[in-house]
Amino acid sequence: MNKGLSRRDLLAGTGATLGAAMLAGVAGRTALGAPPGKSTTRWGLAVDLARCASRDGCRRCVEACHTVHRVPKLADPRHEVKWVWTEPFARVFPEQVHPYQADARMQAPVLVLCNHCENAPCTKVCPTGATWRRSDGAVAMDEHRCIGCRYCMAACPYGSRSFNWEDPPTNLNDNCEGSPEWLRSACAQASYPRRSAGVVEKCTLCVERIDLGQVPLCVQTCRNLGVAALTFGDLEDAESPLRQLLATRQVLRRRPSLGTEPHVFYLV
Ligand code: SF4
Repeated sequence: MNKGLSRRDLLAGTGATLGAAMLAGVAGRTALGAPPGKSTTRWGLAVDLARCASRDGCRRCVEACHTVHRVPKLADPRHEVKWVWTEPFARVFPEQVHPYQADARMQAPVLVLCNHCENAPCTKVCPTGATWRRSDGAVAMDEHRCIGCRYCMAACPYGSRSFNWEDPPTNLNDNCEGSPEWLRSACAQASYPRRSAGVVEKCTLCVERIDLGQVPLCVQTCRNLGVAALTFGDLEDAESPLRQLLATRQVLRRRPSLGTEPHVFYLV
């Protein structure tokens, strides 16, 4: 197997027909380290704003993420727990707003999530080590170590973390039960543990999937729709589809002046 090609094919979604053995091989390299000749991996994500907007009102990636990760749906909107969601353009990119911008443009929904920042302030304030930056760049979260102090929420300038105010439903499969057909296979594959009240939640870049050589669920869901507005890949790999996009497209990042170096990029 051509190691470089198979890795990129998998990440670009053209490797969907690879067999389990090949997946395991790729997974091994992804989980255990970089392929030969490459010293690091740095995961990143690009959101193509136009492609995403082409399916007006689409929330499939949000539904998939929140269902499979058992993100609790709480009745009180003030207690909403969010891993992936949308916000108006003007709030996501305040530096890009000018007085002559059309209101529709200002209010256009933009997909947001944890930016898996290179200089993640949230990880520096956690007193228990419940959140940390992995060597591949994913900012991980261990809810078992979280004491609910919410320092990380205060430190995140993007509002990417939510506090879990209530215990989730007692049935582990509550969220997946009754899921639509398109979500069933992801539900069947998942075994994401539910969290209790009093912990902080956020997008984990689907580390449980990327360690198996799979792309994050939001990315896969968007691909399955044929939209492919989300591109996941290795920022350290100059040949990766992600790097190709970042090299050739105009790109926005959220609040770059803060120096957090987000690893989520928005293609204009
Ligand atoms: Fe931390 Fe917020 Fe950056 Fe995510 S977006 S890594 S929660 S500072």
